[in-house]
Amino acid sequence: MIEELLARNKAWSEDRVAEKTDYFESLSNLQQPDYLWIGCSDSRVPANVITGLEPGEVFVHRNVANLIHPADLNMLSVVEFAVERLSVKHIIICGHYGCGGIHAAVAGKRFGLIDHWLQPIRDVAEARFSCEKCEDWSDEDLDRLCEASVVEQVKRLARTPIMQGAWSTRADIAIHGWIYGLKDGLLSDLGCTITGPDS
Ligand SMILES: [Zn+2]
Repeated sequence: MIEELLARNKAWSEDRVAEKTDYFESLSNLQQPDYLWIGCSDSRVPANVITGLEPGEVFVHRNVANLIHPADLNMLSVVEFAVERLSVKHIIICGHYGCGGIHAAVAGKRFGLIDHWLQPIRDVAEARFSCEKCEDWSDEDLDRLCEASVVEQVKRLARTPIMQGAWSTRADIAIHGWIYGLKDGLLSDLGCTITGPDS
């Protein structure tokens, strides 16, 4: 029942105030997160929940398969605001194993507009994997493709004029690539952090 969400919200709000009387007052006056999270829209990968961060601590952008399209005005606006106004120090691009977007990209079927969206994944698949037909992809291969796509998206974000411009005036900003396991709830650092225009 949809009404239950409103009732749960009321209970949640009351619990926060019971713990700390000025909880919402202090949050409403200040948004100063250190982190920008770019993750998949998948309902099983909620940024705040899996990182244990409170409201106000992480700025979030999500799309299908956590992709960086250089002409995506939505994503670019979020990144620019996070970098230039909020002065976040860490941008985390987080993929996840078992990603439906990754699977769809190499499924060998046509789904419609989403096929255009998923093209960067096929680019990674063609460049780095020898699987040609959808039947060739084992679960292990798909896991590696989930990881490889994140690494590529980190590079794509680093190449945007927003990030290149940010690094020309400040050095304290890094882009990280992480992956989340749906089966164990654990995040792993893929070791592809970029901390400057040439790294
Ligand atoms: Zn996904």
